[in-house]
Amino acid sequence: MGLSACDGRADGVSAPRISFVTMGCAKNEVDSAAMARALSGAGYAVVEDVEGADVIVINTCSFIQAATEESLEAIFEAARLPRVAAGDAAIVVAGCMPARYGDDLADELEEARAFVPCSKEDDIVAVVEAIVGPVPAAAGETATSAGAPAELARPAFSYVKISDGCDRFCSYCTIPHIRGRYHSFPYEDIRTAVAREVAQGAREIVLIAQDTGRWGQDLPGGRDLAWLVDALAGAFPDTWLRVMYVQPEGVTDALLAVMAARENVCSYLDIPLQHVSEPLLRAMNRPGSAEKFAAAIEHIRALVPDITLRTTLIAGFPGETEGEFEALCDFVAEAPFDYVGVFPYSREEGTAAYDLPDQLDEDEKAERAQILRDVADTACAARVAARIGRSYRVLVEGAEEDGQLYGRAQCQAPEVDGVTFIEAGEISSFVDVVITDTLLYEMEGE
Ligand code: SF4
Repeated sequence: MGLSACDGRADGVSAPRISFVTMGCAKNEVDSAAMARALSGAGYAVVEDVEGADVIVINTCSFIQAATEESLEAIFEAARLPRVAAGDAAIVVAGCMPARYGDDLADELEEARAFVPCSKEDDIVAVVEAIVGPVPAAAGETATSAGAPAELARPAFSYVKISDGCDRFCSYCTIPHIRGRYHSFPYEDIRTAVAREVAQGAREIVLIAQDTGRWGQDLPGGRDLAWLVDALAGAFPDTWLRVMYVQPEGVTDALLAVMAARENVCSYLDIPLQHVSEPLLRAMNRPGSAEKFAAAIEHIRALVPDITLRTTLIAGFPGETEGEFEALCDFVAEAPFDYVGVFPYSREEGTAAYDLPDQLDEDEKAERAQILRDVADTACAARVAARIGRSYRVLVEGAEEDGQLYGRAQCQAPEVDGVTFIEAGEISSFVDVVITDTLLYEMEGE
C-alpha cells in the first residue's frame, strides 16, 4: 500500500492512533485488550474510531470456515475505509487466521500490512512501530489519555484467561493447530489480571480458556482449578467468579465443593459434551456416553443443588445416524441442562474428521441443528420458567434506550444466557430480586 514509516500521523507530533476490531470469542477480546494495553503503555493512542485510526488491528477468528469468512469480510470492510484506501492507514491482521493459514495468508491478502499470529501477539508494539514509527516524545499525554477500546470496556464483568492452547485434539477442531499445546498461566499472573479488572470496576470475573478444567496440571506445585477458584474467591470476596468451558473430566468434587461453599463463586458450569452417542464421541476423539453424562449430571446436582448447567452440542457429525440424532434430542428433551448451544458440524481442512466417511450435506446438518435447537429451547425455557417466585441476586449491568434496567443473576453467563430485567438499582451494583416472569431465556424481577 506504500505507507512510509511516518505515514498516518496527523501532525508528526501526536501519538499514532491504533484501533481494534475483534472477531470471534471472548478469548480474542482478552487478547485484544492485552495488545491494547501494550500499545497504550508504549505511548500509542488506542482509539475507538476505526475511520480515524492510523493502524487498524483486526484480531481474527478462524476456528471454523464461517468465522474465517466473517474475519475476511471485516478485513475487506476496513480496506474500503477512505484513509486505508488512500494509503494513510494500515491494517494489521492478528490472531487465529495468521496462526491457521501462516504464510499462505500473506500471499493472498495484500490488504494487510502485517500479520501477527496468536503466538506472536506480544510483539504487537514492534509490529506497529515498524509501520508508523515510534511515538514522538512530545505525544505522551495524548496517547495515554485515549484508554482502551470501547468494545473492550465492560464495567460490570471482565474475562480473564487462565491458560491457552489445547492438548485434546478433538477430531473436528482446529484450535490445537491454531493455538498450540496447552499451557496454564501462573497463578500470580492470573491474580494480577483479576486485580486489574476489579480495580477498573469489574464486579464479575469470568475465567476462560480452551480447557479451564486442566489448569495447573502443567505447573509445578500440584495446584488445580478448584484451588485457583478458591484462592481467587478468597482474595476478591466482593467479586463474582465464574468458570466457563470445563470439559467433563475437569468437573471434580473439589471444584463443586468450592462452588457450594463460596457465595461469590457462581454455581454455574458450562460443560461441552458435543454429543451423547458413544461411537460418535469416539470418532470425535472425546470420552463419555449418554449413561456416563447422565450420571455425572446427577452427581453434580446432588453436590450443588442450585447449579446452572450449560452445554454445547454438534449436530450432523460425519456418520451421525438418524437414530443417534434422535437419541441426542431425547437426551436434551429430558432437560438435564439450563442452556444449550447447538452448532452444525463444520468440516475443517487439516482436522482428522475432515477425512471421515459419511459426511452429511449442508442442508441436512443445518436442519438437524435447528431441530435440536427447538428441542433445547422447549426444555430449557421450562427450566428457566421454573425460577419464577425464587429470589436471585442480580448484578446490574445497564439500561436500555427506554431506561429499562437489566442485569444478570449467577445463573446467567454474560452474552449467552439472556438477562434479568429489574425495576431499580445502581449500575455495577448487586440487587436482590424475586423473579416474577420469564420469556424464553429472559427473566423479570422485582
Ligand atoms: S477441547 Fe476439543 S473442541 Fe475444545 S479446544 Fe480442545 S480440541 Fe477443540
